[in-house]
Amino acid sequence: MDAPLIALKGVWREYVSGEDRLQVLKEIDLTIEAGEMVAIVGASGSGKSTLMNILGLLDRPSLGSYHIRGRATGSLDSNELAALRREHFGFIFQRYHLLGELTARDNVEVPAVYAGTERGARHGRASALLERLGMGARADHRPGQLSGGQQQRVSIARALMNGGEVILADEPTGALDSRSGEEVLRILEELNAEGRTVILVTHDPAVAARARRVIEISDGVITADRRREASPAPASEPVSAPTARTEWADAGKGSHLTALGEALRMALLAMNAHRMRAFLTMLGIIIGIASVVCVVALGEGSRQRVLTNISSLGTNTIEVFAGKSYGDVRSAKISTLVISDADALAGQPYVAAVTPTVSTSAVIRYRAVEANALVNGVGAQYFLAKGTHLAEGRLFGTDAVKRRTQEAVIDENTRTTLFGEGVSALGRVILVGSMPARIVGVTEPQQGGFGSNQNLSVYLPYTAVQTRLIGSQSLRSITVRVADDVSSGLAEQAVTDLLTRRHGSKDFFILNTDDIRRAITSTTQTMTVLIAVIAVISLAVGGIGVMNIMLVSVSERVGEIGVRMAVGARRRDILQQFLIEAVLVCLIGGVLGIALALAFGLVFAQVQTGFSLVYSATSIVTAVVCSTAIGVGFGYLPARRAARLDPVEALSRT
Ligand code: ADP
Ligand code: MG
Repeated sequence: MDAPLIALKGVWREYVSGEDRLQVLKEIDLTIEAGEMVAIVGASGSGKSTLMNILGLLDRPSLGSYHIRGRATGSLDSNELAALRREHFGFIFQRYHLLGELTARDNVEVPAVYAGTERGARHGRASALLERLGMGARADHRPGQLSGGQQQRVSIARALMNGGEVILADEPTGALDSRSGEEVLRILEELNAEGRTVILVTHDPAVAARARRVIEISDGVITADRRREASPAPASEPVSAPTARTEWADAGKGSHLTALGEALRMALLAMNAHRMRAFLTMLGIIIGIASVVCVVALGEGSRQRVLTNISSLGTNTIEVFAGKSYGDVRSAKISTLVISDADALAGQPYVAAVTPTVSTSAVIRYRAVEANALVNGVGAQYFLAKGTHLAEGRLFGTDAVKRRTQEAVIDENTRTTLFGEGVSALGRVILVGSMPARIVGVTEPQQGGFGSNQNLSVYLPYTAVQTRLIGSQSLRSITVRVADDVSSGLAEQAVTDLLTRRHGSKDFFILNTDDIRRAITSTTQTMTVLIAVIAVISLAVGGIGVMNIMLVSVSERVGEIGVRMAVGARRRDILQQFLIEAVLVCLIGGVLGIALALAFGLVFAQVQTGFSLVYSATSIVTAVVCSTAIGVGFGYLPARRAARLDPVEALSRT
């Protein structure tokens, strides 16, 4: 004789809670043949559902063996169990356990989706089943729009979707009025008559009386097992239930691609059904990403502005001033810095250019226009030393310096002040104090930043200024441009040594622009660190938001995961769906977050003109990658944990 369809041997099930061990099933031995209709009756709490869940492979015995057609189930892995649930069993729950976001037809189709049945065939079969159960007109309604009896019929259709060789119904009429209950019982009888095995749990003796075999259970022990004499022999061959199917292994009919498509569709359906939840999850990501991107862009914008200012400092120069320091009141009188010092410096190998400077202020005049200007007496190498550029004309040469020629270079400010916009100044003669000078060049206006001021500057050979304006041979300062390949610190030291030797004492002080540059650069480095820290904080805050909402939304859905597994979803199916959902939410949220950040930049540009947001691709990528990782991690990991539960445990969390 063939092995029985179902054989339990010495099955125990105990629940452990803390110190307590609760034995719910004790030493159950039970054999059920294919084609039987069995009612399991007993008082509430006697262990009927526990037994049923074990029979339906939603739960495992703590001890003992469960064989299906002679094959032990204890050694099956989760995929094989899922395949059995999907292909052979149809579970009907007291509380229906339909998925609220799906229509009746979609609910019925779920087991076939996991079986990999092609879409058209699935649709057709689901519609036919619903039609047969009198639900044809309601196929497109959601569970919430159906009565209890109607929902139970949908869940019966779902149980039959992949064949439903064995129907397990746990108090299927428990929540129904008597008329709907009668209807459901009639359907179950009909299914049994077709050759399906029907196992029915009830506490109602009237319901039990409909079965040909009644098993009584009390306090976890089978106390009676009666068969009605009058019962006809079970149909030898089932009409539509494919009992001969013994292929338990995962029959992956659909390709991975269609499975992925289904998972994507499922994820979209779930997101659409819970728009608010999806939106809130996205909001965390949107705000997180937008704030990180904006903070970094703001920081980078201000940093770049500071850097522009630094570059306006010009080349790397060392300025030697007479006196002890800037404030030295005697410095004007100190006449120790002389032209021969400049000549000596010019001879040094680490010096690229040298120019002596003297300065004074004077009134400049052109026809009727007068203005106060800073008059700089400089050498021929001045612009080379300072890195200043000429907009037009030329600088006076060494010759002009030697001969005290009254040639002037003026800056853009001066040109506009004296001659007006767009008028060429070259060749015109102006009065500097009482000295006439011919304009030979105009400097380029300085780019913003430090030292950019509204002063009018006029450059003349220092020799001319010394003799005609100041009447003294001493220098205010000597500007040295250090050779490119020499460290400015070493050069500063060498200059100090040389001049100290020449003067006998250190009666001068040195201003090294490199020091200033370094100070500002280190400020911007501090800013960079600051930006990074704020960005990381924003990222963490956004991440925690995403994490929270993901955790909540998944734990809210453990019941759904249970239902899906009960109708035959593999772990992989569940994980795929949640992964896709999490990735979709994160990607859409990411795109919206970036868009929000860019929109902020546009608004900012309208309001603030000082500097603009400088977006960094790194910050955008980092923000998107991090929040996606967090979203996927916290959407996926709890789903994975839920998918590892036994279905009955997940189901109990609805
Ligand atoms: P029935 O379906 O016959 O009413 P159940 O099989 O649902 O009874 O439960 C049998 C006993 O097992 C009850 O006392 C119940 O409290 C206990 N029980 C059921 N599920 C759990 C669980 N997950 N943890 C602890 N005890 C449980
Ligand atoms: Mg029960």
